[in-house]
Amino acid sequence: MKSSLEDFLDQSIRTIPDYPKPGVQFRDITTLLGNARAFRRAIDELVHPYAGLKVDKVAGIEARGFILGGAMAHQLSSGFVPIRKKGKLPHETVRVAYSLEYGVDEMEMHRDAVKPGERVILVDDLIATGGTAEGAVKLLTQMGADIVAACFVIDLPELGGRKKLEALGVQVNTLIA
Ligand code: AMP
Repeated sequence: MKSSLEDFLDQSIRTIPDYPKPGVQFRDITTLLGNARAFRRAIDELVHPYAGLKVDKVAGIEARGFILGGAMAHQLSSGFVPIRKKGKLPHETVRVAYSLEYGVDEMEMHRDAVKPGERVILVDDLIATGGTAEGAVKLLTQMGADIVAACFVIDLPELGGRKKLEALGVQVNTLIA
């Protein structure tokens, strides 16, 4: 049974069948972002578990994690760290390979973006297999971050991403399954 909040957010997200390839149901959050009430509610709910906790940085995964993470960082009075596809960041970086549904890719963050011991929340729009988030967790851990939690608007539980992160000892919070 979905809560009324889940229903409300769910209804603000558009599903595009067979995008970017046949068989994929693409969950398009641009409709949520374009709806003032839904965007505010989603950000309020994403930051809710961390109210009153010390959070030094919010790390967002390119690209939709930037939009959510920027708004979360503002609300939590913390800094923001972009985690990007390789070759996009201008300064010295740390890089990790991560698995996609078919194949691998690499992501990076600036080497000086997080200091050892800083408390970081990771965010992206959606967790599916968890390969992307796992890569981001590895980068942050490598830099000595203390990962408070990873959060996502959408969880696709049948793909096992949440379990993968939890097995790494990362707390996972999601708004819609
Ligand atoms: P994964 O690494 O399998 O957990 O995939 C998560 C990443 O791929 C996130 O950055 C999502 O934005 C994107 N993604 C994967 N599946 C979908 C989907 N069905 N709809 C929208 N985005 C998706």
